[in-house]
Amino acid sequence: MPGPFGSEAAEPEWVRNAIDRLEADARRSADTHLFKLRFPGLDGIDVYFKDESTHPTGSLKHRMARSLILFGLCNGLIGPGTALVEASSGSTAVSEAYFAELLGLPFIAVVPRSTSRQKIAAIERFGGRCHFVDRSSEVYAAAQTIAAELDGLYLDQFTYAERAIDWRTGNIAESIFKQMAGEPHPVPEWIVMSTGTGGTSATIGRYIRFSRKKTRLCGVDVENSCFFEAYKSRERTANCVRSSRIEGVGRPRVEPSFVPSVIDQMMRVPDAASVAAAHVLAARLSHRVGGSTGANFVGLCWCAAAMLRDGRSGSLVTVLCDDGERYSDTYYNDDWLKAEGIDTAPYVAALERFLASGVFEMPGDGAGFECASWPAPAQRR
Ligand SMILES: *Cc1c(COP(=O)(O)O)cnc(C)c1O
Repeated sequence: MPGPFGSEAAEPEWVRNAIDRLEADARRSADTHLFKLRFPGLDGIDVYFKDESTHPTGSLKHRMARSLILFGLCNGLIGPGTALVEASSGSTAVSEAYFAELLGLPFIAVVPRSTSRQKIAAIERFGGRCHFVDRSSEVYAAAQTIAAELDGLYLDQFTYAERAIDWRTGNIAESIFKQMAGEPHPVPEWIVMSTGTGGTSATIGRYIRFSRKKTRLCGVDVENSCFFEAYKSRERTANCVRSSRIEGVGRPRVEPSFVPSVIDQMMRVPDAASVAAAHVLAARLSHRVGGSTGANFVGLCWCAAAMLRDGRSGSLVTVLCDDGERYSDTYYNDDWLKAEGIDTAPYVAALERFLASGVFEMPGDGAGFECASWPAPAQRR
């Protein structure tokens, strides 16, 4: 008769096998591209785009989903048959559904009803199930309840992204710096990244310090989101009621994964500018991009304008977060844009002028744009 430490349970064997399968999947995958685009108006400034849309599940959330599930496995929270549950605006759920299917685990996504039908179809294609809520602020409680009912695991990207992702090695930042190594300006002046969970910006900001680079990190927030307010006021209490229209970024509460102290400068940009920038960029790439990528590009243009003003040359990097085909009903649909009161034309004209000539003048004297910086540690004492 086996004692308390007698025979080995089936579970550790299953966990080892599950991690084997995740590692084998990673071995079959390639790194994502770092594209360089040329803009005649940006003299002396090299601009690069890390294209995260080419992951097997179409967005930068592929990295995060893998990290969250590995974190759960290594924490002893996932075993054979554990139902995985997530609160998501879509992209994370698509990627987690892929990995849940790989491990033969049930997956339930709690998503806002406004989530694009393409993302819902992708979740279901990977065998996941969707539970809909009316507002993005309702996803957290619903996910927690469902996980409790199923005795499953609420993966909780908004809490765990920043600690589940390894910021020292094997992350998006390390990949960017490796791919930049042979460029004329291998250390970018700025890396620009919008915030959803805050996990990617936390990883990039920590990696910059750890690798002792002089690069600075510019965060980008959007309308109907509280990250910028929280950053500016250094209070984590900010919240807002309306849902962000820029899928993947902008949150109704200050997510625990948001780490403002690694973000050197943060800006808030109008949604119309983000969508306009997505259109401007899509015209120069082989594929469309989403609204959060547009927000990133607006932030990058802002940094480029400051460099031109100061007469600095160097490089800038931002991220293509996902593919714009997911948004053919929204950002690339005139009826949707009209219904939302989003007029992209003035921003498209302003961005095209900037990229062609270097003259940076946003519509309405830059109304809707705001910028703040984080004080250095010494200044905070
Ligand atoms: C999640 C997400 C982001 C933001 O990344 P975080 O690491 O969560 O801050 C940006 N764009 C898209 C499309 C996303 O899904």
